[in-house]
Amino acid sequence: MRTAIIGGGAAGFFAAIALKEICPSVRVTIYERSKKCLAKVEISGGGRCNCTNSFAEVGDLKSVYPRGHKLMKRLFNVFDHEDAYAWFERHGVPLTTQDDQCVFPVSQDSHSITLTLQNEARRLGVEVRTLHELTGLTPPAEEKGAYTLEFLGRPSETAEVVILTAGGQPRADGLLDVLSRLGLPIQSPHPSLFTFTIAHKSLTDLMGVVVEGASVALAGTKFRAQGPLLITHWGMSGPAILKLSSHAALHLADADYRSDLLVNWTGDGTPESVLADLLTLAGTHPQRQVTSVRLAGLQSRLWDYLVARSGISLERRWAEVGKKGLNKLVNTLTADVYPIAGRYPHREEFVTAGGVALSAVNPNTLEAKALPGLYFAGELLDIDAVTGGFNLQAAWTTGFVAGQAAAHHFA
Ligand SMILES: Cc1cc2nc3c(=O)[nH]c(=O)nc-3n(C[C@H](O)[C@H](O)[C@H](O)COP(=O)(O)OP(=O)(O)OC[C@H]3O[C@@H](n4cnc5c(N)ncnc54)[C@H](O)[C@@H]3O)c2cc1C
Repeated sequence: MRTAIIGGGAAGFFAAIALKEICPSVRVTIYERSKKCLAKVEISGGGRCNCTNSFAEVGDLKSVYPRGHKLMKRLFNVFDHEDAYAWFERHGVPLTTQDDQCVFPVSQDSHSITLTLQNEARRLGVEVRTLHELTGLTPPAEEKGAYTLEFLGRPSETAEVVILTAGGQPRADGLLDVLSRLGLPIQSPHPSLFTFTIAHKSLTDLMGVVVEGASVALAGTKFRAQGPLLITHWGMSGPAILKLSSHAALHLADADYRSDLLVNWTGDGTPESVLADLLTLAGTHPQRQVTSVRLAGLQSRLWDYLVARSGISLERRWAEVGKKGLNKLVNTLTADVYPIAGRYPHREEFVTAGGVALSAVNPNTLEAKALPGLYFAGELLDIDAVTGGFNLQAAWTTGFVAGQAAAHHFA
């Protein structure tokens, strides 16, 4: 009996290990397209691998999994972040939880994770074949028969069970097309976790400025996010922007990445509360220049820019800023508008929204409803998350569930 796992990434290794732990006698082979397995895990988290999250600040899974939260909730009953944490520690990788609830190996080195996965797979007898790119898949002709797998420039192979863990597929042709031709429903792939290009020179001149707790939203939509915001030489970046790009990934793709970005530089300040704060500043420091006394949390370069953007001269004293000036400043601080000119093409922590539709799989086993013996896990499925360790957690959870379910296929 043979199992073929397509894709030697996070989900592929986790599925292989979970399967072998239950069924040591089943021959399990990971087929990996590139020369090296686990390449993305290696570069994840800037080489430190943010492998999961404590979920302590997550009230609703929808806030971190814009796509796939219902399935993740169900699968967390089988293998959740605490199980992942315990798994890595049990396998010799001590972990640490940062103040922002992101979990990293204590070594601060992703190799601790990749070596552990590779060693464990080797110990259990998982075979790994690199430079094997799956290009075709034919279902068995009869019940309990084998799938035929075609690889680019290689002889074809067969396996009774196939677990597809080929990761995010940014293009609809290629593997997604192969799967679509098998009748599997596919959600069109779109990038997620990207930053915004904003063609506004006086803003981008502020590159390097960080606002710890900004709120951002897309005008005319319900998409909004809060967190640190970074001004860059191309526009805006930072966790708040990445989170917004994730929640609005499909909307922005439809809008050709053009939309008005609303920025509340004060975070959750309302026009009323910000006006009250400004009146307090003006009342306490009437003779000081507006630029010399500013709202907490805003760096002086940004403050000067926002004052000027509100039409207030930088020499003006607080006592000289009339009602109209204060109202303009309140508006700039709480509802500043910038047209997004596009998606910044440079990729950092980039994931793909879309992939194999969740309606295609049994939600308890991740087996294709229409193709017995074919399982899915990882980013190839239409599951993706905001930053913070949630994407790798999805790979561990779905890999574990698919691996265990595949093991029961042989029972
Ligand atoms: C720069 C960067 C940093 C990131 N940092 C983090 C982080 O710190 N924390 C976090 O949670 N998430 C992070 N992510 C996201 C996370 O890495 C992915 O969501 C996760 O790796 C998905 O796991 P996977 O196993 O589904 O896919 P992958 O890990 O991408 O593995 C898929 C594998 O399949 C192979 N493959 C593809 N097509 C074929 C084919 N046709 N035949 C054979 N093999 C194939 C690929 O080469 C690849 O090795 C980061 C992503 C990037 C790009």
